[in-house]
Amino acid sequence: MTVLFSELLIPGWAEGENAKIGLDAVTGNYGSTFGESGATTLPCHNTDPETFFSDKPAEISYAKALCGDCPVQRACLQGALSRQEPVGVWGGELFEDGKVIAAKRAPGRPRNIVAATSVEVDFAELMASVAS
Ligand code: SF4
Repeated sequence: MTVLFSELLIPGWAEGENAKIGLDAVTGNYGSTFGESGATTLPCHNTDPETFFSDKPAEISYAKALCGDCPVQRACLQGALSRQEPVGVWGGELFEDGKVIAAKRAPGRPRNIVAATSVEVDFAELMASVAS
């Protein structure tokens, strides 16, 4: 189970100079009238949540596009920045380790780029070593 930073209830986290903006302040109160929330009308509440936490570039682009039509995009981005969200698409931006990044690095190890080298072999010496 993944627990997002924003889901943790840390006393004092929404107070003082470095106050965090919680999800309740952004999506939870969106469209609230008489105790009813309009949050269920937001794009991310009507899409598979995994889309917003995907590693696949196509799904990340789709999530960003959905945010583009969201009425609380600006507040959502401010909140995610304040919470330093560790992963996911928030307010139309992709987050990693609390920062906005342009794109995810492909999974796996980075390519090992080795410069081609030439080796001179003394063929006669090589044959002699194999023969002995
Ligand atoms: S901006 Fe994106 S992540 Fe934020 S509430 Fe809107 S749809 Fe959801």
